[in-house]
Amino acid sequence: MGRIRVYGEDVLRKKAEEIRNMDAEVRKLIKNMLSTMTRKNGLGLAAPQIGAPKRIFLALNEERSGIITAINPVLADAEGEEIDLEGCLSFPEAYFSIQRARKAVLKAYDEKGKEFIIEAEGLLARCFQHEMDHLNGKLIIDYATDEEKKVWREKIKNSRKSS
Ligand SMILES: [Zn+2]
Repeated sequence: MGRIRVYGEDVLRKKAEEIRNMDAEVRKLIKNMLSTMTRKNGLGLAAPQIGAPKRIFLALNEERSGIITAINPVLADAEGEEIDLEGCLSFPEAYFSIQRARKAVLKAYDEKGKEFIIEAEGLLARCFQHEMDHLNGKLIIDYATDEEKKVWREKIKNSRKSS
């Protein structure tokens, strides 16, 4: 399993690269992501979160019965808006209230290189948008107000000092 990269680590701010070949290295990365996400009980995980700046993310499916593997994903469409609290494995201590599209259409490739489309609503749509942000170097704290940012930076600094 991979080590979860946390806020402050450079890889989380990089724009992730497209996958060109489904080779052994990519399959190994996906396996690592799967075991990490399962171990951490995450709803989703993007490759940069375990240190690989590649355009891959995982998301727990709507029925919570399986995991969606999205390679070179794009948001083909988004609709409506909804504000909700959002957390992130790379920000273990923080939750931010974030406005997202209520519906999102994701287009991506699976491990076999087959293209698929998923229309999602609510939590899964939010998860897709959150993970897409990771692939573009964007994090939940970027949505916070300046005041919230100050408070959370202070909290995170103190909790790391004491642990
Ligand atoms: Zn996240």
